[in-house]
Amino acid sequence: MDNEEFDSQERSTPEAQRETAPSLTQAFDDQVRPYIDLIDNLRAYGLDKDVGLPAVAVIGDQSSGKSSTLEAISGIQLPRGSGIVTRCPLELRMKCDRGESPVWSSKLTYTDKHGEEHCKVMDHPEAVEGAVREAQDAMTDGDAGISSDLITLEVTSSSVPDLTLIDLPGIARVAVEGQPLDIGDQIKNLIHHYITKQETIILVVIPSNVDIATTEALQLSQLYDKHGERSLGVLTKPDLIDKGAEAQVLRAVNNQVIHLKKGYTMVKCRGQAAVDKKQTLQEAIQDEKDFFEYHDKFRDLSQEQRGIPSLAIKLTTELVDQIKKIVPELKKDVKMLLDETREKLRILGEGLPESKEGRQSVLLETATNFTSFLLMLARGDYATKMTPDMRLLTVIRKKFDTFGIQAKGQAPRDGDISLIEDIKEQIQDYRGRELPNFIMYPMFEALVRDVVSKMKDPSIYCLKDVDKSIEKVLNKLCEKYFGRFPRIIGEVKTIVSELRLSAKTTTEEELHKQFEMEALIYSQDNTYLQEIEAIQIKRAQLKAKQQKQMDYSMPVYETPEKTEQTEAEHILDALKAYFKVASRRVTDMAPMIIRYQMLEVLVKNIKTELIKYGANLENATNVEEDPYVRIERANLTEKKERLVRAEMELNKF
Ligand code: GDP
Ligand code: MG
Repeated sequence: MDNEEFDSQERSTPEAQRETAPSLTQAFDDQVRPYIDLIDNLRAYGLDKDVGLPAVAVIGDQSSGKSSTLEAISGIQLPRGSGIVTRCPLELRMKCDRGESPVWSSKLTYTDKHGEEHCKVMDHPEAVEGAVREAQDAMTDGDAGISSDLITLEVTSSSVPDLTLIDLPGIARVAVEGQPLDIGDQIKNLIHHYITKQETIILVVIPSNVDIATTEALQLSQLYDKHGERSLGVLTKPDLIDKGAEAQVLRAVNNQVIHLKKGYTMVKCRGQAAVDKKQTLQEAIQDEKDFFEYHDKFRDLSQEQRGIPSLAIKLTTELVDQIKKIVPELKKDVKMLLDETREKLRILGEGLPESKEGRQSVLLETATNFTSFLLMLARGDYATKMTPDMRLLTVIRKKFDTFGIQAKGQAPRDGDISLIEDIKEQIQDYRGRELPNFIMYPMFEALVRDVVSKMKDPSIYCLKDVDKSIEKVLNKLCEKYFGRFPRIIGEVKTIVSELRLSAKTTTEEELHKQFEMEALIYSQDNTYLQEIEAIQIKRAQLKAKQQKQMDYSMPVYETPEKTEQTEAEHILDALKAYFKVASRRVTDMAPMIIRYQMLEVLVKNIKTELIKYGANLENATNVEEDPYVRIERANLTEKKERLVRAEMELNKF
């Protein structure tokens, strides 16, 4: 661009500037700016790392006229050339200055590949092109690579719309010399990053002089936006359409070829010849206007369907609509993320003090926090949100329920033939020593011991299950509280797991003891008598019913087999009654033992031991943070700060 163009743009009066491109500015009222500023600010805080922000992303095949369209909208010449010229996403923020004496100004900000931030203020449009090139070079390796970091170019002028666009590298088919071989993939990833978000409006730039269905840009937009809900087509180069091909292009503009909900706009920008002739961008807008007015096929297109000014209005409207729609959701998301980040920071704690005593108190505090949280879980006092497997008491209660069902399932049953046979056999063994029809006590005791002990295995399984759940929770807590101290966590894990294993051993011994006690047949109150009475009444009723169904006329004789059967049933009934009493006791006692030893006692022991460990000054020397934790804390702090700023910004709406 030579000085002539720069002069004409710079030195013209504000009125003259307005005259050159009136429709770019007049249609927008002051309602628009705050919304666009909101999103620009949020993006500047880096909020798009956390949530999707509304944006207009520009995609197009190489040489489709992307840069020319952006130039026409912004009034700034951007880097041009063959090959991939846009090598970093460029955020182009345009602000319309509607003041009495508007001034043209521009600001370019970026972070180079060494992490250094740059900001360049310009007061001539012609300075921009070089500055953008310089920024791209500083952000990428060599002059052919690409970067996914954003360059921000802010332009304030009386002749730009209030609009922010993100220009993405053109879709490259093959790498040219000096470019990384996977450049195509890199670009696609970059484009993916922006257009995959549902909040992004995709501006698809397509030359009119090709078959639009074959353009990669449109195919890509269809991939991410299947139903064309958020894509907007721009048809460029209408002056290059072959004679006779206009009808097909008209069908495309009229949304009859590939349907996009937001439709198509046809624009005519400067061709190479016009650029060579140094046509200014203002002249180009006039040229475009004339082109459509006098074109015998395209002059019938509606105002909305043609021209850069219409496109600018359409884009601003779409963008602002999208922003308005999303603000309430953004508020919610930001609040949620902020809570989450604060909680994470709280758990990480502050950085470590230098002195040994200071570190000792950090260790002690961590131990205290660990144990009070564990205590909370053991008591079922779940104040904070947590995953179901961390709800220790609830998890364990479920295991107790399962145990109850399994234990009671061991009850002796009438249908258990082998048990009846066993009883009969024992009756015969004892016969001779005793008179028939007496419950033979030692024999009964042996049978009772047998059935009651069947509940022992389920109780041990239950203990093992409970232990596994506790182990999981303890491990998670160790990671959560001591994870930041790599030289401590191992020792803490050892202490905790040794205590857990010893609690498990004690519990198992207690359970054995409980079953040993159960082998001493005992029932203090008259529960047993009530049970046996109930069972015997039931059996008598059953017998009577069976009798009724048999032949009345036949007298009933007692045979020795029958006597034995009756006797066996009698004993079985006693067994059933006793089992009921015992199982009630066992299904209460075993869980009580497990809960007492594995939760109450264990938690108390862990507390004592960890506090002792934390109070030991020797251990304080090992309180060193993982460098990763420091980085994590810095990242979280940064995230928290940007979320706080975002929340403040959003609260204005
Ligand atoms: P990009 O690679 O998509 O950024 O494409 P450019 O904007 O650099 O355009 C590629 C070529 O097409 C350039 O020579 C432009 O001057 C030319 N061009 C862009 N738009 C038009 C147009 O509407 N009409 C004509 N005749 N040429 C155009
Ligand atoms: Mg370009």
